[in-house]
Amino acid sequence: MILSSSINQSFIQCFISKTNSSQNIYTTNNISYNTVLQSSVQNLRFLTSPTTTKPTAIVTAATLADVQATVACSRLAGLRVRVRSGGHDYEAMSYVSSGEHFIILDLAKLSSITVDKDFAFAWVETGATLGELYYAIAKNNNTVAFPAGLCPTIGIGGHFTGGGIGTLMRMYGTAADNIVDALLVNSYGKLLDRKVMGEDLFWAIRGGGAASFGVVLSFKIKLVYVPPTVTAFNVIKNLRQNATELVQRWQTIAPKFDEKLFIRVLAQTADDGSNNKTIEAVFNSFYLGRRDELLSVMEKSFPELGLKAEDCTEMSWLESVLFFAGYSGRSVDILLDRTPEYNSSFKAKSDFVKKAISKEGLEKIWEFLLEAKDEPLTMIMDPLGGRMDEISKSAIAFPHRKGNLYNIQYFMRWFETDTVVTERHLGWMRKMYEFMKPYVSSHPRTAYYNYKDIDLGEGQGIYSADVVWGDKYFKGNFKRLAYVKGKVDPVNFFRNEQSIPPLSLYLSNTEI
Ligand SMILES: Cc1cc2nc3c(=O)[nH]c(=O)nc-3n(C[C@H](O)[C@H](O)[C@H](O)COP(=O)(O)OP(=O)(O)OC[C@H]3O[C@@H](n4cnc5c(N)ncnc54)[C@H](O)[C@@H]3O)c2cc1C
Repeated sequence: MILSSSINQSFIQCFISKTNSSQNIYTTNNISYNTVLQSSVQNLRFLTSPTTTKPTAIVTAATLADVQATVACSRLAGLRVRVRSGGHDYEAMSYVSSGEHFIILDLAKLSSITVDKDFAFAWVETGATLGELYYAIAKNNNTVAFPAGLCPTIGIGGHFTGGGIGTLMRMYGTAADNIVDALLVNSYGKLLDRKVMGEDLFWAIRGGGAASFGVVLSFKIKLVYVPPTVTAFNVIKNLRQNATELVQRWQTIAPKFDEKLFIRVLAQTADDGSNNKTIEAVFNSFYLGRRDELLSVMEKSFPELGLKAEDCTEMSWLESVLFFAGYSGRSVDILLDRTPEYNSSFKAKSDFVKKAISKEGLEKIWEFLLEAKDEPLTMIMDPLGGRMDEISKSAIAFPHRKGNLYNIQYFMRWFETDTVVTERHLGWMRKMYEFMKPYVSSHPRTAYYNYKDIDLGEGQGIYSADVVWGDKYFKGNFKRLAYVKGKVDPVNFFRNEQSIPPLSLYLSNTEI
């Protein structure tokens, strides 16, 4: 859907009058429009889908003035703004819409990182990637790190505002737990820091997403200590090697391990070496300490896994980022490469598990996976516990704390562009999600906001009474998020298919 040129023109004229330049604007007439649109897109299916609305223009902001002008001029021209930092949104909400006309405010050029001289804090602009951040803080000091996600090309903007879980969460919590200040442009184009925005809004953008509240320009974060040497390992077991018993046991012990130990499980179908399909459980892990210490911790905590010295590799924390990203052996400079690596499409869903799944339950899940044909799903199971249990459910908007054993992400990637294949995969994912219902959290069945899933309910909550997704992502924090939204953006300027509705509208649609 292309917008009338007069609206586009009024946006452009307004933008030029405020910034004296149109250099960073790409409309559909510009030959670079498609290249700029695709620059950070990971999930190709949304670019080829005939039902999505593409941006009427893209602004590649290089200054605060560009950001403020984009907000003010979009509003004036009757357009919406979709902010894009790293472009990893699972439902593409940063670069396409399901009908609304909008401008992409792309922040990739706003990516500076300033680490203070004591390595205690850093300011990071939200257009930076996790890889750039990890590199900047740890390249010259192997005892500092930051607790956030595993994929280096993820943008700070979407990731930190949705929570941010990763290998250090059991020791230090989520990325959002370690934010101490922020700079945000609100719906009136004003720049606010923590003091000026107030604690309600500062609370909301740490886990509640920022797409409903404004444009976060930068975050001040607290850096954390890591030992100079950490130890990583993968142990892979299939069904003939007791994978089921090991996963069953892992569920209850992994959230209670020493906080320095992070063992996640990737479960997927594989060939057992004799042309038979099996389930393979990859125990994808690291320990904040040396190999000998790890071996003695494992001997006490999880001897059944049979970890051996030769399974383990000592490395710096920065190198462990490469290990988890699948870049082992490469130079750490690869963390500075922002190019999307996979030319593919994907779909994800998520659950939290509060009660360990029985052996019989796991066997049924494996059976379900083994019966599927050409459905390349991985169940990524990340243990919680440790620091995650100590932080209260309402300390920030991210609510998934004590009482949860682990998170499951169901993740499927495919390379075919055919819509029939895409629809088949999406349909099968929905079946898988339905199948998992008895084994996971309920009332509400919770989900992780950063693993956005449009099947949980579309609609902005203002036009539709369906705000079921709100309780799933945010539990008891949803109402406070809606209250903050009502206070800072009552006209709902910043919105997308799953944005927080202002409280007045929320009240008119639901009983709370
Ligand atoms: C391959 C892959 C691996 C992943 N691994 C992990 C992981 O290990 N741990 C984890 O927790 N998550 C993980 N995620 C999920 C990821 O955290 C989310 O998709 C996150 O929202 C991506 O942020 P982004 O800036 O890259 O995305 P974008 O698509 O740019 O933005 C996501 C959302 O945030 C909004 N937004 C972005 N920047 C701003 C801003 N500056 N101000 C206001 N709103 C903004 C956008 O409008 C959009 O709604 C992964 C995703 C992918 C695709």
